[in-house]
Amino acid sequence: MDINNNLKKFKKERTLVLIKPDGIERGLIGEIISRFERAGLKIVGLGIVRATKNLIDKHYPKTREWIENLGNNFIKTCQENNIKYDLKKDFGVNDVYNLGLLVRKWLIDFMCSGPIVKIAIEGNHAVEVVRKIVGPTLPYKAPPGTIRGDFAIDSPIVANLEKRAIKNLIHASGNIKEAQYELKIWFRKDELID
Ligand code: GDP
Ligand code: MG
Repeated sequence: MDINNNLKKFKKERTLVLIKPDGIERGLIGEIISRFERAGLKIVGLGIVRATKNLIDKHYPKTREWIENLGNNFIKTCQENNIKYDLKKDFGVNDVYNLGLLVRKWLIDFMCSGPIVKIAIEGNHAVEVVRKIVGPTLPYKAPPGTIRGDFAIDSPIVANLEKRAIKNLIHASGNIKEAQYELKIWFRKDELID
């Protein structure tokens, strides 16, 4: 690939953001979109939708690694906060993988509990910059200045014990490969502005 192609590809890096149902309920659509715009990123696709379980199931990875990571998040938060529980008795699962599957199911239910805003974003380092603006997964660990740090206060402990997903306002693609896959499932080609 010559440098002009490289340059074009680089300047047109794209990523997917979803404003989750809690973001819509909180009336944060405008605030969230403006945070990406003011960083200089371009909105190249936008819509409000009600997702089906099928679509959300397609959206979130099914790899063992990703599912076990969800289970490990759960275990780590509980350990750090000294929360005692019995996986089998309280949650009906035997291992990290099945715990991850359970959290994934809570997540699908949450994403289908209300409307979602889908946003395709373009710009230099779009994937990384968007993740930086969004902030880390756990609201109480997200620094001020990030969207999650400024607007999300849900506790992963409360979420785990209430058997539901953490409400952290936003989904943002984790890497370029994920972004390409996710953009394809949420937008038709002709819905994205060139
Ligand atoms: P993200 O990329 O920052 O959104 O985080 P992940 O891809 O790791 O997880 C996907 C989503 O699952 C998160 O945004 C949360 O809504 C939810 N989630 C992640 N970890 C946990 C957890 O330990 N407990 C609960 N209840 N939900 C979680
Ligand atoms: Mg993720």
